[in-house]
Amino acid sequence: MIILGTQGPNTFLPEVNARSGANILECYQCGKCVSTCPVSQYMDFPPREIMQMVKLGLKNETMMANSTWFCLTCSACSGRCPREIEIPAVMEAIRHIAIEENYINDSTKVKEIRTFHKIFLDMIKRYGRNYELRMMAEFNIRTRNLFKDMHLAPKALLKGKIPLGVKSVKSAKAIQRMYKLAEKLEKKHQ
Ligand code: SF4
Ligand code: SF4
Repeated sequence: MIILGTQGPNTFLPEVNARSGANILECYQCGKCVSTCPVSQYMDFPPREIMQMVKLGLKNETMMANSTWFCLTCSACSGRCPREIEIPAVMEAIRHIAIEENYINDSTKVKEIRTFHKIFLDMIKRYGRNYELRMMAEFNIRTRNLFKDMHLAPKALLKGKIPLGVKSVKSAKAIQRMYKLAEKLEKKHQ
């Protein structure tokens, strides 16, 4: 049970506002974001509730919810928000804080999503682009689900939807430099 008023000063709201560039106080709880969001039914708390939780400074509950991990960053919600709140940026800011401060939602789905993000970023770091076949193989290995979606592979290969080899993009080195710089900045702010 959450007892409001026992949480101490709300430092969470200004932090999320500053990181996302949004003003969550503008949210008047109309719920348009919820009716537009394609995955709100799978979230512990749909976007409208996440906005309210941040306003109330319920950091732990927000961090431990699966909502921000399920968010697809599709911007369908912000496109309809009458207060023009950048909801995907809010979700992203919360994800960043969760990673930095080590909040772990240990549901299998959230773990898989986090693994997927990590593999995707590693792939971009290495090749400057995604390499679907390798990504699928790494994901299956790391989630110990070796044959997941394997039945789709022959069809996709035959149709040329999945390239067999991978070539780094021309700007791969520049992308690697960008990663290094980002890692340096991250360490500086820790
Ligand atoms: S659509 Fe905008 S104002 Fe309405 S509940 Fe969602 S975030 Fe708040
Ligand atoms: S950006 Fe996230 S919260 Fe907004 S509609 Fe898409 S999935 Fe839902």
